[in-house]
Amino acid sequence: MKKIVLASSNAGKVREINNLLLQNNIEVVPQSAFDIPDAIEDGLSFVENAIIKARHAAKLSGSPAIADDSGIEVDALNHRPGIYSARYSGEGATSEKNNQKMLGELEGVAEENRSARYQCVMVFMRDADDPMPIITQGSLEGRILEAPRGEGGFGYDPIFYLPDHKCAAAEISLEEKNKISHRAIALNAMIARLKDTGIIS
Ligand code: IMP
Repeated sequence: MKKIVLASSNAGKVREINNLLLQNNIEVVPQSAFDIPDAIEDGLSFVENAIIKARHAAKLSGSPAIADDSGIEVDALNHRPGIYSARYSGEGATSEKNNQKMLGELEGVAEENRSARYQCVMVFMRDADDPMPIITQGSLEGRILEAPRGEGGFGYDPIFYLPDHKCAAAEISLEEKNKISHRAIALNAMIARLKDTGIIS
């Protein structure tokens, strides 16, 4: 069993990522197990921030590392909040405050102009000096509702409408979300690339 450090301490993410990787004989260990503090995410894109996080975890653990960076982009807001999705409503941001801020910014915007997508970038680095990180990405298209719906999911899920499912992302099961999510798409692509390059068998 190969061990890879995961540059996140988010229990939900660790569970979701481990779930898929364990089937491939890889175990991800959260960086908190090495007492690694969060990296300063001062990149200007998902790709830059994911590289910053993976490099930081590889450097402080001395092991290969995997990181993801994700968020939501709304077309009517010129791709905002993007990399600032978690802190969209400022200091002390919560999912509820973020959702309320987004509904406020989109007030009066017609349904056809409320298109949005979740984005996820995943990065694998063999070590902190790896000159060729493996980078994969996934996205999930939807549109912003006019009011929250559903109790499941997290973040923007209650206001993120999935046209194929005809409901909010907070109204589908975790299993279903893990089949279609931006994170699952990026992670499956990562597993394929790790196999192609012989890092896993
Ligand atoms: P990070 O990748 O942990 O930095 O998370 C970025 C932020 O994007 C999260 O805090 C959420 O606000 C948002 N986000 C990313 N993925 C999802 C998702 O699947 N559902 C809802 N919100 C998400």
